Order: sequence, then structure tokens, then C-alpha cells
Amino acid sequence: MIDPNLPLQEIAQDAARKFQERYGRPPRWIVAAPGRVNLIGEHTDYNDGFVFPMAIERYTVIAADRPRPGAPDQVTWHCARTNQSAAFPLSRPVPKGEPKHWTNYIRGVFAGFQARGVDSLAFDALMLSTVPLGGGLSSSAALEISTATLIETASGQKIDPVEKALLGQKAEHDYAGMPCGIMDQFISALGRKDHLLLLDCRSRKPELVPMSDPGVAILIVNTNVKHELVGGEYAQRRRQCEEAARLLGVPALRDATADALEAKKSKMDETVYRRARHVIGENERTIHAAHGVRASNWTTVGQLMYASHLSLKDDYEVSCAELDAVVEIAHGIGIDGGVYGCRMTGGGFGGCCVALVDSARIDPLAARIAAEYKQKTQVKPTLFVSRPAAGATVVKG
Ligand code: ADP
Ligand code: MG
Repeated sequence: MIDPNLPLQEIAQDAARKFQERYGRPPRWIVAAPGRVNLIGEHTDYNDGFVFPMAIERYTVIAADRPRPGAPDQVTWHCARTNQSAAFPLSRPVPKGEPKHWTNYIRGVFAGFQARGVDSLAFDALMLSTVPLGGGLSSSAALEISTATLIETASGQKIDPVEKALLGQKAEHDYAGMPCGIMDQFISALGRKDHLLLLDCRSRKPELVPMSDPGVAILIVNTNVKHELVGGEYAQRRRQCEEAARLLGVPALRDATADALEAKKSKMDETVYRRARHVIGENERTIHAAHGVRASNWTTVGQLMYASHLSLKDDYEVSCAELDAVVEIAHGIGIDGGVYGCRMTGGGFGGCCVALVDSARIDPLAARIAAEYKQKTQVKPTLFVSRPAAGATVVKG
């Protein structure tokens, strides 16, 4: 198992070594794309609102070359993380794999380049990843965007990073069958070291926000639980948001104000009202947090994160006992102990929390949060720290 905390250059060296072992020659290209964490702005994307993610220092790295002369015209891919191999032909369009198969993300990206007229795409590839798979830190976007970066680099046909992100999203929709929003692919493609990305999900306009203060870092706490949902919770939340927007007479909740919501409160179902209150408040908090990050006002950003969590827990009802436990522990440690703020991140019902912490006190903080969480829940969490990382990178090309 690869050390998940390795810096990018070392993962790339490891990938080159493993490529050489497997294919008997050095790779011609090495590319990478990161996973991400969303600092604030949850369940706002499908309401045309704002999200505020950063790329994390966890990467999917691909080492590749063209197949040897005379080899079949196909894509051969080995995942060293899971020790799985697969190959697929480059017919038009690229065939879909079995439902849920990991190559679907890759196949979809190849299909996207085919649709843009980029052909002759055969590769031998080996991939390594330090992004947890299925852990809510977007290994899927890291896979799509690293694959797209490989094809771009090898074909010499660069595409605009926004188009690259949209191509990755389409791959996930059409080939992986996952109707995701735009956040994950945008941050993986457009992230920049020491910056967060304020993304307007309506205009798709990305705005890089510097976070260069070395005194703070992001601590990610994976609760290592995932509660199965039986009741179609996400679809239900979306319907409730649409209903609220209709009652408020706006195209999407992004266009509604807190005052307009209060004025209509008596005419609304109580649950629908609370769902709308979360989304409207969360959009405001996200814009505020971007100002706070820009001004290095960590106390304010931290308070907004706690407010976001409470709203997700009480109004949107997508938290769970384990996520709440992490936030309570962080809050108990407080600013004096080095924690500015903490909240659940991602869709909810398990997954990760994100905390804004004093970078000088990371080790004792992480140890304390891990110990208290284990004691409260009997589950061992996984913690790691990250500064805002760069988006898709060509390591060798
Ligand atoms: P997340 O994006 O939060 O990690 P998803 O369910 O969206 O979770 O995507 C995870 C899936 O993506 C995995 O189950 C696997 O099919 C695929 N995947 C992503 N990265 C890799 C990788 N490096 N190796 C193999 N499969 C991967
Ligand atoms: Mg994903």
C-alpha cells in the first residue's frame, strides 16, 4: 500500500518505477490530478448557488506510453492501488464497461475526446492514487481529470480547463451513470496551490481566492461510516428545494432572500421552509467565507463553518451522529486549543468533516480528535492535513 501522505513528485517516481516493471520501458508521460474537499457551500450546487472547494494534496497519478508497435489499438490500464487491470478497444464510441466498473470514468473521458475529434488514443497506462476511493474526496473527478490531462498532453491538443472539467462531468454522467454537479471536476482541473475556488454553479464562473497564510491548515476527518439511505433522501431534498423556489416565485433558491422566505413562511410546509432556509443561508455563508479567507479572518470563517454544520444538521437533516461527534469534539477544543471551525463536508449521512486549524498544532489536535471520536463512536477515524493544492499537473510531458 502506498503511503497516502507522499508528495506528488514521489508518487510520480513510484508510478514511473511500477510502469517500468510492468511494461518493460519507462513511461513517456506522467500526469496527475488531485482530490478535493469543500470548505463550505453544501447542497447549494443544484440550487444554482455557490461552493467553495480546494484541491487537496492527494492525487491520482498516471504514467503512460503508446503501446509497442504492432500491439492492438486499445487502451490498457493497470491500477496499482487496487491491483486491477483492464483493456478496452477504441471503437467509436468507446464501449461502456459493466455498470459500476472503475474503467467507466476513463472510458467516458476517451469518448469525450473522440467527440472533439481527438483520435488515435491507444495507451499503456499505470495509475497510482492517494485519494481514498469512495471516501467523499472525489477520487472519481481525480480519475477523470488526470485521464483528460494525459490525453491532452499526449495528443498535443490542449483544451480550456473549464471545458476539460465539463468533459469530465459528462463522462461521469454518461459512462458512470452518476448525475454529479460541476464542483469536483472544476476544482480538480482548475485548482491552484495556496488558493480555494469560489464557484458560481449557475454561471460556472470560477474565482480563485488566495489562502497563503501558513498559520492555518485544513484537517480532514473521515468518520469512516456511511449510512445506507433507503428513502431516496437526496432526490427528496431536491424536490423540496424546487417546491420552495416555486412558492417563492424564483427560478432557483439561489435567487431567493431570507426576507422573502420569512414573508412566505406561513404559506409553506414547515419542512420545505427549513430546507430553503438552509440553502439561502448557506449561499450567504459561502460568499462571506470567501471574503473571510481573502482577509485571513479565520475566526469568522470558522464560525461560518459551525453555522453551516448546524444548518445541515437541523434544517437540511443530512448529518449523522458520527459527523456531529467530530464537530462537537472540535468545538470543545475551541480556538484556544487551535480549532477555528469544523463542519461536515459532502452530501452527508457519513463521510468526512473538514476543520480549519492552527497549523502549528496539527499533530496534538489530530491525536486528540481521533482519540475522542474513537471513544464516542467505537469507530477509528482517518485524519490527514492538507494545504490547498494545485489542480491537474503534467509531471512529465
Ligand atoms: P469519490 O469520488 O468520493 O471517491 P465515487 O463513488 O464518486 O467516490 O467514485 C469512486 C469510484 O471511482 C471507485 O469506486 C472506482 O470505481 C473509481 N475510481 C476512482 N479512482 C480510482 C482509482 N485510482 N482506481 C480504481 N478506481 C477508481
Ligand atoms: Mg465522486
